[in-house]
Amino acid sequence: MMITAQTRLVGVIGFPIAHTLSPVMHNAAFAALKLDWVYLPLVVPPEQLRAALQGLVALGFAGANLTIPHKTSALAHLDDLSPEAKSLGAVNTVVVAAGRLIGYNTDATGFLAALDEAGCRPHHALVLGAGGAAHAVVYALRQRGVSVTIGNRRPKPAAWLAEKMGAAFLPTWDAFTLSTALTGVDLLVNATPVGQWPVVNESPLPAGVQLPSHLTVFDLVYNPPHTRLLQQARQAGAKTISGLGMLVHQGAAAFSLWTGYPPPTEVMRRAVLAGLG
Ligand code: NAP
Repeated sequence: MMITAQTRLVGVIGFPIAHTLSPVMHNAAFAALKLDWVYLPLVVPPEQLRAALQGLVALGFAGANLTIPHKTSALAHLDDLSPEAKSLGAVNTVVVAAGRLIGYNTDATGFLAALDEAGCRPHHALVLGAGGAAHAVVYALRQRGVSVTIGNRRPKPAAWLAEKMGAAFLPTWDAFTLSTALTGVDLLVNATPVGQWPVVNESPLPAGVQLPSHLTVFDLVYNPPHTRLLQQARQAGAKTISGLGMLVHQGAAAFSLWTGYPPPTEVMRRAVLAGLG
């Protein structure tokens, strides 16, 4: 691909940024649609975030993704926010529109798109974790009218998130409490990083938790795509959804916000899988 003065620029702003799959995913999508666009990894330390965001406007970027540690701190430097970004207090996609910086959050839509793709229509969900990803998942499920219980290692963040989102929370994090909660739900979501590369032999579930076979288990961890938790779910006869789908669909939503084109999601999925090796 030739980069010229006409080439449109986007990228991901993070610190550090070594393991991101976003450049591979978006550049494959631009190539597939023959768009003269390029997606760059942009390493920006926290104290330079404001200057970097203003730099997007100055340099004529179409927008950017934001990742750790900038998703929340960026809010103070943007001109406007989508309803999702406002509600979640976190931005993962910025669009530069007429010189203004608009913040979006595509994690909730990405999660719902992956759920729909798997044909999963839950009524009651247990979400493990109470951090940024759990926030987006609980928000998305509550938008669909799903009743949600949050289980977190430390109950305080779970209680806070439950109060904010009209959900319930588990008072303790132990095998008995989790097993009991699982009998009453049809969807289990792991929104903790447990099981993620390089510690791939760990499951977020404490030893002794029984997984009922009627469950669908959705693991937000995408590296590896088949986590220890998903192996446990399969052994129990439950359905499984890998975090790869959410990664692709949150990226696809950002792609549309920047370019206005329908995203080539299968191309993006193949690129991510190839990137994971
Ligand atoms: P985060 O804000 O740091 O939150 C981490 C959560 O996990 C906290 O609730 C924490 O509990 C819990 N946790 C951490 N270590 C744990 C352990 N050893 N045992 C039990 N709970 C533990 O992280 P995040 O941004 O929400 O991301 C969570 C995961 O989701 C990451 O792996 C991320 O890559 C993934 N993710 C995937 C997608 C996707 O597109 N597939 C999108 C977003 C995020 P405490 O409060 O007790 O510390």
